[in-house]
Amino acid sequence: MKCIHCGEQAQAICRWCGRAVCANHIKPMTYIISVYVGGKKVPKSLVVADAVWCGICKPQPEPIEMPYLD
Ligand SMILES: [Zn+2]
Ligand SMILES: [Zn+2]
Repeated sequence: MKCIHCGEQAQAICRWCGRAVCANHIKPMTYIISVYVGGKKVPKSLVVADAVWCGICKPQPEPIEMPYLD
């Protein structure tokens, strides 16, 4: 796999789109694993800080709202 930015040997894969990036072009981004509603109906999310991001794709910074299913 080659880095999509410079063509060097890739070191990691973007968490969101799967593009390969080398050490120089890895960008950190917070990765949201899952979202759940806590005891007081407050949404909470499990996140990984500094996950590998390619810098090209556009991850949503926050979960997209979904209506509650009763
Ligand atoms: Zn690169
Ligand atoms: Zn990406």
